[in-house]
Amino acid sequence: MRILVVEDENKVASFIKKGLQEEGYAVDVAADGLEGLSMLEMNVYDAMILDLMLPKKNGIEVMREVRAKKLNVPVLMLTARDTLADKVMGLDAGADDYLTKPFAFQELLARLRSLLRRGKAEVAMLKIADLTLDPATRKVKRGEVELSLTAKEFSLLEYMMRNVGKPLSRTTLSEHVWDINFDRMTNVVDVYINFLRNKVDKGFDKKLIQTVRGVGYTLKE
Ligand code: CA
Repeated sequence: MRILVVEDENKVASFIKKGLQEEGYAVDVAADGLEGLSMLEMNVYDAMILDLMLPKKNGIEVMREVRAKKLNVPVLMLTARDTLADKVMGLDAGADDYLTKPFAFQELLARLRSLLRRGKAEVAMLKIADLTLDPATRKVKRGEVELSLTAKEFSLLEYMMRNVGKPLSRTTLSEHVWDINFDRMTNVVDVYINFLRNKVDKGFDKKLIQTVRGVGYTLKE
């Protein structure tokens, strides 16, 4: 999952970025509202964490443009003050949820996970055949066997499990799993798919990660 963080306070931005990266998210940071909007239009994000008080364009103005331009991204707004007016204004402008600073990182993670499930009648646990992935505990199991994945492998598998049965191109996979510094001309996606195959499919009769010729990969039974 790839997240855009729009936050002008350097310390807060790096704290969020570092924490999310440790959880396997791909993270890009924009330092003001204008930059945030242009990154949102140029790249693909699964969610945005948007500070309310921002230079150039504040969070409310950004939110209004996001909704006016129908950029379909779930938004978690960060507010410095826990006032009802701020809350109502943020939600009115189209934010899906908000969090008051200062916050515990675990709280941010929990809100983000719930945003990423937004609109889907999806149980917290992702499942295909006997493969299960729990985004909250980060446990992945094939049958009764617990698999040990690196953060990036987890992230790639999570994205594929959220899109079971869909053919996913290398570009799509790289756009959702790697950040803006990723060189999309490399074969890193194939390399990671191989890592995953070794852990998820090797030694099991039923292969779940499948190559879609001319497209990329898909996860299906
Ligand atoms: Ca700010």
